[in-house]
Amino acid sequence: MPIAKPPEMNRRDFLKLGLMGTTSTILGGNALAEAAQMYAQAETLALPTPVYRTLGRTGLRVSVVGFGAMLTPEPEVIRVAFEHGINYVNTSRKYMAGKNEEIVGKALKGFRDKVYVATKIQTELNTTEAIVRDVEASLKALGTDHIDVIQLDANTDKDRIFRPEAREAFTRLKEQGKVRFFGATVHKSPVDVANALADDKSRFFDTLLVAYNFKSGKDLTDAIARAAKAGIGIIAMKTQTGGYAPSALGSLSPHQAALKWALQNPDIAVAVPGMRNLAELKEDSAVMGVPLKADDRRILQIYGAAVQPYYCHLCGACEGSCPHGVEISTINRSLMYAEGYRSHDLALSTYREIPPPASASACLDCAGCVAQCGKGLDISARMERARHLFG
Ligand code: SF4
Ligand code: SF4
Repeated sequence: MPIAKPPEMNRRDFLKLGLMGTTSTILGGNALAEAAQMYAQAETLALPTPVYRTLGRTGLRVSVVGFGAMLTPEPEVIRVAFEHGINYVNTSRKYMAGKNEEIVGKALKGFRDKVYVATKIQTELNTTEAIVRDVEASLKALGTDHIDVIQLDANTDKDRIFRPEAREAFTRLKEQGKVRFFGATVHKSPVDVANALADDKSRFFDTLLVAYNFKSGKDLTDAIARAAKAGIGIIAMKTQTGGYAPSALGSLSPHQAALKWALQNPDIAVAVPGMRNLAELKEDSAVMGVPLKADDRRILQIYGAAVQPYYCHLCGACEGSCPHGVEISTINRSLMYAEGYRSHDLALSTYREIPPPASASACLDCAGCVAQCGKGLDISARMERARHLFG
């Protein structure tokens, strides 16, 4: 439930509320209680000194832990991160039914010259004019005159990054000083898209936002290395494999270990874990400059085994084997938003982007599931779960 901040609430009250009033997806009960005690004694939150890396050919020096704002209901949580030197924030108008950019915009007040802002165009836009209008709407919502990284969202295959209307629109906006750098984002087919960016002679895109975590295969790590070598700044998302809270680990959090795993790869310039509240900000920012250790690897082994039955790599490899063209990876991503992130709105809005004939309802007309997942997911069961949750 979003945190409501009463008018008379002071900053100290808010810091406590931000910690205790929101169900943490990361900390277990004991850790929450300990952290609550700590904040009761401290006026402000002490976060570690950030570590910075260069975001590819943009040359921007960004904190290795950036702020994924997609689930953050309160601008004040983002401002605390900015105050402590976290200087990259990732948002989209799609998040929170359009409100997320406004939340980031409020957080930016007084920090605009210290922070780099990345947002995305809406997935369904097909004309240059529509894309330009969309970015101008983002500028308004963010309350800024420029966006540092404008991202072409949801590249489901490598051909989408060559869409002329998107390139025309981005180029025009850059000439007008409204955007600085161009990014691509990918969920499905990340290896193909990363390789296509590496091979793109036009060097149009400067960054790639890609799901990357300890469950990722060597093929993706290699493709990321090629893209990084070509000057693409790599931004890692879904570093926590969906934010699931498996009971196998009890109150022990796997999320620091997962974030460390992603950041041990020097080709990752910045990770943008979603942070709802101060507890999550504290936990995620604490990994900056801390190496992955043997204990972390053990935690990830247990965590990896626990999420194995439902963690989808979003590779899309199964979709060719489904005779009805069901968008299995996007459906699984919707389930991740529902079950892992526990974000009802994001799950539903993602699911509703799928054309109805390619939704999980198509499986009702199927004699028997023949779609194959090389990672061992029971696709039929996941589709049934999607129908149960999303109707
Ligand atoms: S269900 Fe399996 S094959 Fe299909 S996208 Fe997910 S991980 Fe890839
Ligand atoms: S049951 Fe399996 S093969 Fe049949 S439509 Fe659904 S995903 Fe495709």
